[in-house]
Amino acid sequence: KQVAELIAAGEVVERPASVVKELVENSIDAGASSVTVEIQNGGVSYIRVTDDGCGILREDVHNAFVSHATSKIKGEDDLYNIGTLGFRGEALASIAAVARVSLLTRTAEELAGTSVQAEGGQILSVEDAGCPVGTTIIVRDLFYNTPARMKFLKKDVSEANAVAACLDRIALSHPEVSLRFIREQKTTLHTSGDNNLLSCAYGVFGRDFAKGLIEASYESDGVSAGGLISKPEESRATRGMQYFFVNGRFVRTRTAMAALEEAFKGSITVGKFPSCILNITMPYHLVDVNVHPAKVEVRFVNERLVFDAVYFAAKNALAALNE
Ligand code: ADP
Ligand code: MG
Repeated sequence: KQVAELIAAGEVVERPASVVKELVENSIDAGASSVTVEIQNGGVSYIRVTDDGCGILREDVHNAFVSHATSKIKGEDDLYNIGTLGFRGEALASIAAVARVSLLTRTAEELAGTSVQAEGGQILSVEDAGCPVGTTIIVRDLFYNTPARMKFLKKDVSEANAVAACLDRIALSHPEVSLRFIREQKTTLHTSGDNNLLSCAYGVFGRDFAKGLIEASYESDGVSAGGLISKPEESRATRGMQYFFVNGRFVRTRTAMAALEEAFKGSITVGKFPSCILNITMPYHLVDVNVHPAKVEVRFVNERLVFDAVYFAAKNALAALNE
């Protein structure tokens, strides 16, 4: 059983960034309005995620660490609904299987909070603790009991970069949540949480980049594209600043990338690339779910609708600039 747990853990927990992604998504699922992430040594020795979400009831704490014991009823609406079923309710159990985990949590209806220590997949203690409503999870010594997996980790700075990139994507897809990242003692990201994508972009990328963004949106046949694109004169040498989300999830999509660049044809120099933060929304049955949930590639049932939504969102925004 231990081996099976460790193998399962490997699928969800590849590196510090995957731990952070799962924990922050849990915080957001818990209705948090602000989430703080702190890492040390690239997250290998220390990851802390603190939120002001709903907390976990004492009686549910044990279940939270058990595989597949998710409290969430995932509706039909989950983007990768079918694809993720196998992973649901596995994150916390998987993380606790390969690290030392401290959990501190309290719900609004409880007077006392709960402190839990777990390591190597075992819960060591559950005790009373004073704390505000919400949850703090500290993950120490990732892969301390799986040296083979430890070997695949890169240098601390690369692991920290991966955590930062992951938090940028989460921040941009949740402008309603104030996200703070303390990287090796320094705050490197702090978003407003005011549900305004542009102020969120200022928080993530800073003024130099954000001031060159303009609003763009288009909707047709139930497929929409909305968000921000760069002004033509702000184009860049790489595609590194093209952020596409589908129904709120970060994805890589050639279709959307091609549509964006087609819309900019003639407005920017050949060899330069536009930037964007665009969320594409569509009914869930129009997204191909036969894609591995851990990957960010996505396919659409109707590529044309997606192409058009992105193309016209960008084209119309550029046209409005020249009016
Ligand atoms: P899943 O998110 O798929 O339900 P997880 O293993 O990630 O599975 O989490 C297990 C359960 O622990 C969640 O269903 C939730 O009830 C609880 N939980 C985890 N993190 C938090 C949090 N930050 N705030 C409130 N509840 C949480
Ligand atoms: Mg989860």
